[in-house]
Amino acid sequence: MIKQEAKIRIEKIKNQLREIDYAYYVLDKPIISDAAWDTLKDELIKLENEWPEFITPDSPTQRIGGKALGKFEKIKHKIPKYSLEDVFSFEEVLEFDARVKRFLELSENQDIEYTCELKIDGLNMSFVYEKGIFSKAITRGDGIVGEDVTHTVRTIKTVPLKLNQEIDVEVGGEVYLPIKSFEKINLELEKIGQEKFANPRNAAAGTVRQLDPAVAASRDLQSFFYLLTLANANFKTQHELLQNLQQLGFRVEKHFVKINKIAEVKDFFEKIKKIREKLNFEIDGIVIKVNNLAWQEKLGRTAKHARWACAYKFAAEQATTVVEDIQVQVGRTGVLTPVAHLRPVSVAGSTVSRATLHNADEIMRTDIRIGDTVIIQKAGDVIPDIVKVLTKLRVGKEKKFSMPKTCPICNSEVVQPEGEVAYYCTNKNCFAQTKEKLYHFVSRGAFDIPGLGPKIIDLLLDENLIEDVADIFSLEVGDLENLPRLGEKSAQNIISAIESKKKISLAKFIYALGIRHVGEETAILLTQKVAPNENFIKNSQSLDVVELSAIDGVGPIVAESVVSWFKDNKNIKLIEKLFVNGVEIIVNNKPSIKNNKFVGKSFVLTGSLATLEREDAKEKIRSLGGEVSETVSKKTDYVVVGENPGSKLSKAQSLDIKVLNEKDFLELFV
Ligand code: NAD
Repeated sequence: MIKQEAKIRIEKIKNQLREIDYAYYVLDKPIISDAAWDTLKDELIKLENEWPEFITPDSPTQRIGGKALGKFEKIKHKIPKYSLEDVFSFEEVLEFDARVKRFLELSENQDIEYTCELKIDGLNMSFVYEKGIFSKAITRGDGIVGEDVTHTVRTIKTVPLKLNQEIDVEVGGEVYLPIKSFEKINLELEKIGQEKFANPRNAAAGTVRQLDPAVAASRDLQSFFYLLTLANANFKTQHELLQNLQQLGFRVEKHFVKINKIAEVKDFFEKIKKIREKLNFEIDGIVIKVNNLAWQEKLGRTAKHARWACAYKFAAEQATTVVEDIQVQVGRTGVLTPVAHLRPVSVAGSTVSRATLHNADEIMRTDIRIGDTVIIQKAGDVIPDIVKVLTKLRVGKEKKFSMPKTCPICNSEVVQPEGEVAYYCTNKNCFAQTKEKLYHFVSRGAFDIPGLGPKIIDLLLDENLIEDVADIFSLEVGDLENLPRLGEKSAQNIISAIESKKKISLAKFIYALGIRHVGEETAILLTQKVAPNENFIKNSQSLDVVELSAIDGVGPIVAESVVSWFKDNKNIKLIEKLFVNGVEIIVNNKPSIKNNKFVGKSFVLTGSLATLEREDAKEKIRSLGGEVSETVSKKTDYVVVGENPGSKLSKAQSLDIKVLNEKDFLELFV
């Protein structure tokens, strides 16, 4: 992204978040999910980190969320409230631990104790006690100023009105609504025709901000506590603090643990993920806190969040991302399905880069455009779906999509039968092209996978087990064993064969790709200019026609075909997918044993040999430094003739080229 684009994007996201935050904090009526909000804010943070000159004091990243409303008395917090830094992976947890150690100037290898608590999805609040008597409840607000909601919070049974010690103390905690109570409230609101709350947190916020405490009293609000500011406290750790809170009469969420080193976070996180559904309150992750309170103090906070804690959030089922392209896929029946290619984003624990857009009508309805920022959703095993387009983030460069008039695979005409939403490729054989590509890919000169012939490929396509050649390498025995006539043993054999063929020579790999005009020999010639493995993609994308035509034996038509094949993003994606699925190009060491009768000599084979398969003969010639060509020309040194030779023999005779029978040929090897 260039500077000007970043500036515009930052401005757009800020405006969008401002509108979303107003709906969320002020109106208690969220317009997008928390998860989508999190990714959008995350993008803003990343952009601002990259372009700090565009950070403005009013950016949502510069202050903690919330706003004190005009409705209730505003009260300044004695100690400004903090926000928590979000992390979404264990790697980020380790980075947090490393940052803590760096700040405390501890060695990298020293283990630090942490407490892990549940991150309750409620309202953060301060509760003030004077001489042990509850006196005030203040919302977090913007962290500096909150609002006095004592009248409603007083009705919460789990907020003690009198402590068992006459102390002045301020505690921090969370007011929430149990899920069952939330559902009950929504049912009642529905009955009387009123608007329902979006989620329990929202319902809790709406309830706490009621003017009439009687409404709050009827709604079963609850509280948990996790912070205590007490002068002369004699406890030293967060863990002791939680225990002390309990002794003072405050309700503490019971799952908290002390861990001896950061690695133990993983188990706790997994355990909580499992019990999450059983809890009667919503949580959106865990909070990891440095256990040592003196260290917490030393670490302090940035303008936004505490340095001694972080929120490790569960994988969310929604996220925002950008539609980088809309491409059309052609299925078995010839139906064209538009698929959104997305900037890869993590949703529900896995990275997603595609979402089906169903059909052209759906695209018209949602007005989704290439370049749009969208909210995508992935729940359970369901295919990801785009649920909303954030049109306010448009910059005017977004491109509308229209169904292609010709098929992207075979260029045939595309039609939309009357009364149908779907568009079809009119070429009945279109899907056959996909098939042919697959047949070629597994054939002898290419990946040469025994047992995986056209019949099995057809079955795999019928069952939608594969869509392209790369899918072959992610098949499992379980996918195949129930196919007709296959059974476990043959399934196992095919999978082992696939596994054993993941390593392939550069020439065979190029040949397998099925580039027009590139046969086995041309593929070998191309290895002079194409680098294997890591550099394969970069190198092949930068090939040009002049460079390739300079190879002896490669003409401009072939060069053109190769260059345009590698310029096509679809093909590059396919190669990337092959590599991701474990395909590895092995570097062919130049033949160590050379035989002078072969080095630099060009062979053409015709007819079938009795003692050698054609492919094996080719392999042998090449391994000894010779070349194999498909056509007889003046440059050919030998034409090897087997049984039932073709026209190549007469061509050889007319050009006066040396003809070898099988016996002569085999003698060259001695
Ligand atoms: P945060 O993610 O920074 O978390 C901090 C909060 O965690 C604390 O204030 C506290 O309330 C809470 N918490 C729960 N359990 C805790 C524990 N054991 N220890 C310490 N703290 C604990 O929260 P934030 O700064 O309020 O961030 C805003 C949140 O609100 C985001 O998660 C976002 O998803 C949501 N939001 C949503 C929308 C929307 O439109 N959907 C808009 C704005 C904000």
